[in-house]
Amino acid sequence: MRFAFRFSILFLFLFALFLLVGVAAGAPPSGFFLLSLFFLFAGGFGYWLLRPRSAPAESLTAAVREMKRGDFSARAAVPAEDTLAPLGQALNEMAEELQKTLAALQEQKRVQDTTLETLSEAVLAADAEGKIIFANSVLTSIFDLEGGPVGQPFHLVFRQPALLSAFEKVLQDGGSESVQIKETFPTHRVVNVYLTVPEKARTVRVVAVFTDVTQSYRLEQVRKDFVANASHELRTPLAVIKGYVETLEDGLIAPLERKKVFATLNQNIQRMGDLIEDLLHLSKLESPEFTLKREKLLVLDVVQTVVSSLKPQAVTKRQLLAVEVPPQLSLVGDRVELEVALKNLLENAIHYTGPGGRVTLSARSQNGGVEITVVDSGIGIPSQDLGRIFERFYRVDRSRSREEGGTGLGLSIVKHIAEAHGGRVEVESEVGKGSKFTLVIPG
Ligand code: ADP
Repeated sequence: MRFAFRFSILFLFLFALFLLVGVAAGAPPSGFFLLSLFFLFAGGFGYWLLRPRSAPAESLTAAVREMKRGDFSARAAVPAEDTLAPLGQALNEMAEELQKTLAALQEQKRVQDTTLETLSEAVLAADAEGKIIFANSVLTSIFDLEGGPVGQPFHLVFRQPALLSAFEKVLQDGGSESVQIKETFPTHRVVNVYLTVPEKARTVRVVAVFTDVTQSYRLEQVRKDFVANASHELRTPLAVIKGYVETLEDGLIAPLERKKVFATLNQNIQRMGDLIEDLLHLSKLESPEFTLKREKLLVLDVVQTVVSSLKPQAVTKRQLLAVEVPPQLSLVGDRVELEVALKNLLENAIHYTGPGGRVTLSARSQNGGVEITVVDSGIGIPSQDLGRIFERFYRVDRSRSREEGGTGLGLSIVKHIAEAHGGRVEVESEVGKGSKFTLVIPG
């Protein structure tokens, strides 16, 4: 239509031109001249008619094209008096609305993406074909996935049979499933996976949330081991006591034997008592409410209290017990707890050093704090055990430690006390030569 209109205007112009050329060539001027003027005027008027109509239409077309490309900031420029003005206005209003909605959706997506990335859980979404269409970066780091899992089928990314069958079930039947997967290689890891089908989702079929519970699983394992160890440690002396009491009841023990029996009974009762005391102390140190009663202490004071309580044991073993502590050396700490820590270290030094050996307790100021050292010339500790002796119930020689009344909790208590003071306990040892334990208390 527009083309035909333009063609007729062109035709009018050409015709006017033809007439003017005719006039110039000597054709009778007046009629030709008037006719050419008329056609020129008609052509001009046609152009004028067409011109204002085509600009808004072109602007409308251009705006629609921009919007088709996704640019909703494009607007149609249509003068208010034009017949296309209502259409232009409607288009512009629609673009405005779409621009706002799009901006809101983009903002929502940014918030969702950020939320999914800041989660400590790994999140994954798969389509109806079982292909992964979304995964946050936590998933990649939990499972050390190379190249990113997006675009890959779920069953090629994960190999754990329990997880695959749960995924397949949710994919086919809907609903939700929970499964725990344990990995031992390359790292030990326990992960809880919850799979579900989101409501009203079109492209997403399955959403899976992975929670790394390795840490809590380990803690639970440690707790279980601790309870099992503690029960075992308590049951052993209890069984001995029960056995002797029954024999005593039956009157099967000769009067001369009785003294020995009562000594054994006492020893086992003592052992149970020590064990319960150490367990209670450990639980107190580990409780969140525990706080140190800090005060300024003279190190020599603390050391002498401990030494005087254990001197009889050293004397019995004819050991040389030496104290080398500067009289003015002081620290800020909890007197009772520090005495317990030093008593445990000194008790061990005496226990694990043979008759005639030497035990030295010394202290010095170091980096603004204090280092208290207990050195013995005893049996020493094999290098492979050094890393574990601070664990609860860990003993190098189980039977020997028990025989000598050890609970296996002493060094664990020392470590807790040192750490409660913001310090640490260190050990150096050589089998057959002796050990050196250092309690470091910062200033
Ligand atoms: P225990 O009550 O068995 O002594 P501890 O926690 O105090 O428990 O010590 C753990 C283990 O570390 C001991 O069983 C012993 O094998 C070893 N140990 C601790 N102190 C010494 C030491 N001074 N010399 C040799 N071995 C030691």
